Amino acid sequence: MTANIIQANAMLLDAKLQLSLFGNDISNFTNYVRAPVRCLLKAKEKPSCQNFISVFHACMDAPNDEFKSYVTYLYTDYRNNGPTKSLTMLQLLDKLDIEYKPIHTLGRWERKQTSEILALTATISALQSELSSIKSNYAMLAKANSSTTPQNNTGNPQLKLEKPPTRQPGTPEITEFKGLTWKWCDKCFGGSWNRTHVTAEHQPGIGKRNRRRNQPSGATNPQANLAQTPASNASNTPPTDSMPSETATNLQSNIASSTTLDFM
Ligand SMILES: [Zn+2]
Repeated sequence: MTANIIQANAMLLDAKLQLSLFGNDISNFTNYVRAPVRCLLKAKEKPSCQNFISVFHACMDAPNDEFKSYVTYLYTDYRNNGPTKSLTMLQLLDKLDIEYKPIHTLGRWERKQTSEILALTATISALQSELSSIKSNYAMLAKANSSTTPQNNTGNPQLKLEKPPTRQPGTPEITEFKGLTWKWCDKCFGGSWNRTHVTAEHQPGIGKRNRRRNQPSGATNPQANLAQTPASNASNTPPTDSMPSETATNLQSNIASSTTLDFM
């Protein structure tokens, strides 16, 4: 008989009385608790105060607010020595079942949790479609970047952007091409598109300064781009640099601007 009492008490340990171990089902839980309680009663023992508290705590983990507030009410009453205190354990378990069954039958038991999961699922699928549109935009940009022939030997085939077709006389100096703004300069390359300036904004000499400052890492330094910001007095200044160094400068600033895009 003593062995049975020990076994019954072991079954009523706090760690065994977790509602999640019973699939959050109150009927399963109360059925489990009844067996050791009956065993104790048979041995003329009574469930302890701690057993009651364990049962209350387990039921307060229920996934249903209505049921939880009912159990909280009983628990408070129990601790205040109210009528609940005079219930036997079997009576308490019956009360819990009576409260649980209609809620469960009406399909309200885990309703709140289900609606939260549905809301989360909707949020996740919205985020997924946003992500896939970002991915496809990025893939298009990467393709636009890599579809042109590299004009340098740095080993990165994506450093050169595809330029618009050569500008015809009388057409605008600034144009949109494959999602990027391009500016026409008559003085660079004997006339070419770039990302930083039009003819009037062409600044001779700026390239040499950039190259000195940035070597050897100038090709990937975005500051090369910033330094190309047009100055207001540039329009009437005659070119002083020789063409080859200007050419190299513009190639560098092209590389700098496309490198910046790579990291967008
Ligand atoms: Zn220029």
